This record gives sequence, structure tokens and C-alpha cells, in this order.
Amino acid sequence: MGVANLLSTSFNGESRNSMAQAFRSTRVLTPGGLVPATLLVEQERIAEVRLWNDVPAAALLRDFGDCVLLPGLVDSHVHINEPGRTEWEGFWTATRAAASGGVTTLVDMPLNCVPETTNVEALEAKRAAAQGKAWVDWAAWGGVVPGNASSLPALAEAGVPGFKCFLIHSGIDGFQAVNEADLRLALARLRGTGLPLLAHAEIAGPVNAATEALHTVGADWRKYSTYLASRPDAAEVDAIALLIRLAEEFQTPIHIVHLATAQALPLFAKARERGVPVTVETCVQYLWFAAEEIPDGATEFKCAPPIRGPANREALWAALETGLIDMVTTDHSPCPPAMKRREEGRWDLAWGGIASLGLALPVMWTAIARRGCSPAAGIERLAAWMAAGPARLAGLAGRKGALAPGADADFAVFDPDAAWTVAPEHLHFRHKLSPYLGAKLRGRVLETWLRGSQVFSANGFADSPRGRELVRR
Ligand SMILES: [Zn+2]
Repeated sequence: MGVANLLSTSFNGESRNSMAQAFRSTRVLTPGGLVPATLLVEQERIAEVRLWNDVPAAALLRDFGDCVLLPGLVDSHVHINEPGRTEWEGFWTATRAAASGGVTTLVDMPLNCVPETTNVEALEAKRAAAQGKAWVDWAAWGGVVPGNASSLPALAEAGVPGFKCFLIHSGIDGFQAVNEADLRLALARLRGTGLPLLAHAEIAGPVNAATEALHTVGADWRKYSTYLASRPDAAEVDAIALLIRLAEEFQTPIHIVHLATAQALPLFAKARERGVPVTVETCVQYLWFAAEEIPDGATEFKCAPPIRGPANREALWAALETGLIDMVTTDHSPCPPAMKRREEGRWDLAWGGIASLGLALPVMWTAIARRGCSPAAGIERLAAWMAAGPARLAGLAGRKGALAPGADADFAVFDPDAAWTVAPEHLHFRHKLSPYLGAKLRGRVLETWLRGSQVFSANGFADSPRGRELVRR
């Protein structure tokens, strides 16, 4: 079980565009569940989902045996950093990392590039920078910063799927935090567009107070416990309460990115009961790691909000499993290794951001298997959390995130039984520094297909990139 059995029929000379392709396996995640099926693909899209043995004679067949075929993942929270900080990451490296992990759509955050994506000129600069470098499809969130509310309609018109803001300093001086007054101006512009406002939900008050107190007592900033104490749960809870209040008042969708604290879960439950248009994601690192396991000085684990304790992690899993948390993203946010200041190991001085793009599927698969989930239910849940959910957030439902007629033929070929240990040669992002190095995982992406073309396999990458920007219309 698990090894692809590639029985391609002979290629009759027609061009791939005109010839239908058929992809089959005994385990295809269709809208009806994980079943034996054949995907019939024409013109880059899934034309039909057929029975396993119902392959048209004229179609080029690829048979993946018992491997799992699941929808290409959609990661709606990635920092690509280009243009302007391509030495941190970039379209070429980020999208190759994505392709290696079965991720076929990335949505880029607006802050780490120069210029920041807070107006149409900056969006155009990003589009120019991405030309010929994208190995998977991508889109760009616009940014909301103090004073740019008047730029939001033009960015929406230019095709961004939504906007991102910070309620606390982002680490980037060109992308300042918004306060309630700024949020009101932005939401007044977004009301009625249907576009979501994504928010980094921590407010400064509790973080500043905790940090000051830690400095006063001379806390050891090499200790992870010091960093964790500097970003208390209350910073998230207070920010989320404000954002839920505004989503309800403006009846405009707000999405909370990277929820780390389980203490905010009751707020979401109550908001759901009242029909408030609020959604929430958590990230792979909050579901995999726990504070007690993080070595002092190991700043490759630094992210904000911080990774919290094991009981908190368990509560996040429970909320995912009941559907209270809508989706899982990576928040892949790398930097040059020197900025992690690993020698000093000072959590207060290191850049925050975890690099993981390409690892999310096997990490989540390993975690979900440990939780005793059956393989079929596990694959269905992962696809809901990491493909369909983020696709819906980014306005891509129907086009991405499902193996269904009409959708782009994006899929991963996944061997659920492969056992492996993460090593630098498995990382395709620019800097091979990640807290997942050394992790023992189950499940491996063997191939990734984008709109009917193979972009990644065990032999490496395709000849050239063919990713496109997904412009909202
Ligand atoms: Zn982020």
C-alpha cells in the first residue's frame, strides 16, 4: 500500500491541452468522501469525477495505485517578502517549497515586501516581481494601515481577495498597527464588498505591561518561559473581543489569523450563536509544539502570538474538531538566519516568524493519526481545514480547494504511510532554518499537480514555473 503504480497509457501525440487526462487511485478525496475514483481533466480543470474503472478510451491515464489524491492545499497565510526583502524569502523559493508539500495556492501577506501592499502601485510592483517565478498559483492580501482607508476601494477593484491589519506593532515600521478609529474607517469602506478583513489579534497594552515587568525583575531573555510570559493570553483575548464587536456592528467579515490562545474560544462560540461574521484560523505550530518542549535560546520557534502550553494545544485541537476553529494555515514567515540571533538566543531580540512551508501536510497528518482519527476521516478533515477553508476565505471556493467538477485540477499525491525525518534537503524555502528539522513524520507528498500539469515529483521540479496570480473578479 502507498506506493504509486504509474501505468500511463501511451501518449498519442496530441497536445496536452486538447487531450483529456485521467488521474485515478483507490483513494481520491471527492466531494462524496475518500473513494476509488477517476478525475477526468480537460483544459486545466476537473471536468468530471468518475468511477475508478470508468476511464474514457481517448484519455491519457495516470494511475496512482493506493496513494491518496487530495485537493491541492491552499495556504492563506504566507509571507513571501518579495519585492524588497527577497533575501528573506521570495516567489521562487516560497512557491517551490509550497509545491514540494502539495500546496498549490498561496495568499501572500502585505507587510514584509517593499513597498508594503497598501495601495495599487505596490500591488502592481508585486505582480511585476512575481513574473515567471511562481511555481504555484498565488494571490495577495491588501494591507490596512493608519491613513490608507481611501486606498482600499482601488485595491479591491484591482482584485485583492481581502485585507490584513495588525492591532500591535508588526515588526515592520512601514506597516503600522491600527487602532479602533482606524478599524472603523477601514470597515466602513469594506462594508458591502464581501471582502474579509484579516487581523493579527494582539493588543499592545498587556504585552507592554508584561514586558516591562519582566525587564524590571531582570528576567532571563534566553528562557522561552520569559518570552511566553511577555505575550499574555489577555493580549489576544482583548483584541478578539474588540474585533468581534466591530464585525457585529459593521456586519462585515473579520477573520482572526493565527489564534494561539484557547482562552478566546468562548468568545467565538458566543459570536457564532449571534451570527457575527467572524472566522478564525490557527496554525500548524500551535497544534504541533507546546511551550514546555521549546529549548531555551531556540529562537527558530519564535512567533507571535507565542506557542503556549500543552493544555492550550489540546483545547485548540478540540475546537478544530468541533468546527469552532475554521481552518489551519502555516504563517510561514522566514528571515535571514542571522536575524534569529541563535548564538545569543535572546527571545526579545530575535526576529519572530517560523519557517515551515511544505511541511504542513505531513505534520498535520502525523498529529491527526496520533489522535486516533481514522485515515479517511483524517484526510477529509485536513482537506477541509487546509484546502476548502482557506479557499473560501480567499474567495476561491469552486475554483480551488476541492476535487470537484469545474475546479482547477490541483492535487497532491500523498503516500500516507511513508516514515521520514525532516532534514535540510527536504526544505525548499530560502533559509534552511526551521523548528521542524529533526521531526519524525508520517506521510509524504510524492507529486503535486497544478491545473493538470505536474509541478513537483520525487525527481524534482518541472522544467519551468507556471503559477498564476488569482485575481478576484
Ligand atoms: Zn503572519
